[in-house]
Amino acid sequence: MLATKRTRVSRSRVFGKMLKSKRDELLGQMQDWRAGVLVERETEDEVGQASWAQMEHLAFATLEQGQKTLAEVEAALERVDSGTYGVCESCGESIPEARLRALAWTRYCLKCAERIRRN
Ligand SMILES: [Zn+2]
Repeated sequence: MLATKRTRVSRSRVFGKMLKSKRDELLGQMQDWRAGVLVERETEDEVGQASWAQMEHLAFATLEQGQKTLAEVEAALERVDSGTYGVCESCGESIPEARLRALAWTRYCLKCAERIRRN
């Protein structure tokens, strides 16, 4: 029991670090994207308007995706703080480390994630 708890704590520390650097990375990227959008708008001309609209659409879709991921990363960091990180929110099972390495901010084990995706 004690060993399990210790494992979970050290695991949280490792993934907490990963999550924090991911958060910084996302924040930096989103600043770049916003800056990019603003620069594009200033240099906009009539010829470029059609492609601008496309780019704007793409940039905002990317921003939106980034914001969603950021929200998930923040939520995962809260779980690290509260000691519930790495536990599936649906079935309460421990999420395998391989899955956390692939998707550190996931809330669900693979089984639950697939079930939720299907529904
Ligand atoms: Zn689960």
